[in-house]
Amino acid sequence: MPKLIVIDPGHDTDDPGSTQIDGAQERTYTLPLALATRDALLRGWDCEVVLTHEGPGMVPGGDLAAELRARGELPNQLGADFFISLHHNAGPSSARGGELYIWTSKRNANGGLVWLPAIDPATGLPNHEAPRSYAIAQVVQPAIRDALAQFGIPWRGAPDRIMCADFAVLRYPELPCMLVESHFGTNQQDDDVADSPEFIPTLAQAIASSLAQALRLTARPEEWQLPRAKVLLPTRPGDDAPREIFGEIRDGVTYAVLPGMSTEVPVRAVAEAMGRTVRFILEPPTVIIE
Ligand SMILES: [Zn+2]
Repeated sequence: MPKLIVIDPGHDTDDPGSTQIDGAQERTYTLPLALATRDALLRGWDCEVVLTHEGPGMVPGGDLAAELRARGELPNQLGADFFISLHHNAGPSSARGGELYIWTSKRNANGGLVWLPAIDPATGLPNHEAPRSYAIAQVVQPAIRDALAQFGIPWRGAPDRIMCADFAVLRYPELPCMLVESHFGTNQQDDDVADSPEFIPTLAQAIASSLAQALRLTARPEEWQLPRAKVLLPTRPGDDAPREIFGEIRDGVTYAVLPGMSTEVPVRAVAEAMGRTVRFILEPPTVIIE
């Protein structure tokens, strides 16, 4: 059985997340990152990937507590092997850098969240309660840190720092899980580089390959991994721009994971069967679904 990874694009249309310094909403960053991470995993390794949502959340009506609980319980219901929630951070304009969180039940005296290093520097003892999450985080954290460093984004605190907090979305998965805050959308330097076209593909590849290593996924045969084709999805009401995903060309057929599906399908055949018109541009290879 291939391992199943659930990816949670932080926030949704009801709860857009924080506002970046350029005015964009956090959700417009987390969904493309989640899609790119899913595609990198499926392209490179034998696994299955499910997203908690692709725009509108799981619980209609905007009940945030119910939404986060539904997302955290989805991997339990699916019998998943790993859960990752993707975000960017927000704070004072000077704050920048990446962070990675695993779960702890600890809260402060008022019941509010506490943010602890996963290992207490004073005692050398763990603050977290999820040793399997911590073991995986120790593989994923340096990969994310190094990917961010390529873009000049620092890691917050010590170079190997992993944090823990009682985040609602990490409270419910009964399996290893983590939450990534890749950078601060409220910092000019972080936000500028995160908008560069190579940022999301690079970060997604780093998350995918380190997860593959930590979860011991089996690599796909090399011929699965190239060449890629861009797939432009039809715009839906509320979309800001055409949605792009990436597919694989094998024997002249483009395969991709279309919205709402958890595995690759031949794009043209499936789109045409759904009554869509499909066009193909050769350079660069692009499938346009209209
Ligand atoms: Zn967030």
